[in-house]
Amino acid sequence: MTTNLPILSDHDALPAVQDHFAKWSNCTDCKLHQTRTKPCLAKGCTPCDFLFLGEAPSQSDDIRGLPFTGPAGNLLKAIINTALHEHKKDFDLQPTYAITNLVACVPNHPKENIEVGGTRQPYQTEVEACSPRLEEFINICKPKGIVYIGDFATTYLTMLPTIKLVHPARILAADDLNNYAPIYLKQINALANFFDRVPYRN
Ligand code: SF4
Repeated sequence: MTTNLPILSDHDALPAVQDHFAKWSNCTDCKLHQTRTKPCLAKGCTPCDFLFLGEAPSQSDDIRGLPFTGPAGNLLKAIINTALHEHKKDFDLQPTYAITNLVACVPNHPKENIEVGGTRQPYQTEVEACSPRLEEFINICKPKGIVYIGDFATTYLTMLPTIKLVHPARILAADDLNNYAPIYLKQINALANFFDRVPYRN
């Protein structure tokens, strides 16, 4: 099976990324493969300075086969881009990043969610089943820091420096701009400070 690689890779990393996508694009290691449209493996750069780690793909991600598409993905992109702009280092040293989730397939349980059309949090068994895929991707990325996206992502334990952002879907759920704006700005400041704090280049 051939796949598009939504990843920019340097020459050395490319074969490993190609192998990774070829291997996991057909994964059936947990029940989520039964209801997914496409696995949403990752996007961004490899290797990268920072890995953004979310919980699970959304239904719109599932259609496209990419993590963090749709409104939540757009908001995350805006937060990252603004934080990069705020980051005080030289442009040449701006950090690179990649994005993935704890599980690569949408936790879309038809019987549980048919009325609301939503997704659910992944079960621990699904997170464990997908952890070899995540570990393999992290080994390819070799990040200097992990940015958790949402509370559940923090269940992934690492020795690397970490920071947690509020999940952009939760920010979007804020009921008015007075609530939305402070949370949004806080995420940008926290992320820019994290970029400042972590020595991501030698
Ligand atoms: S969630 Fe992970 S382990 Fe489960 S089928 Fe998808 S790629 Fe495989």
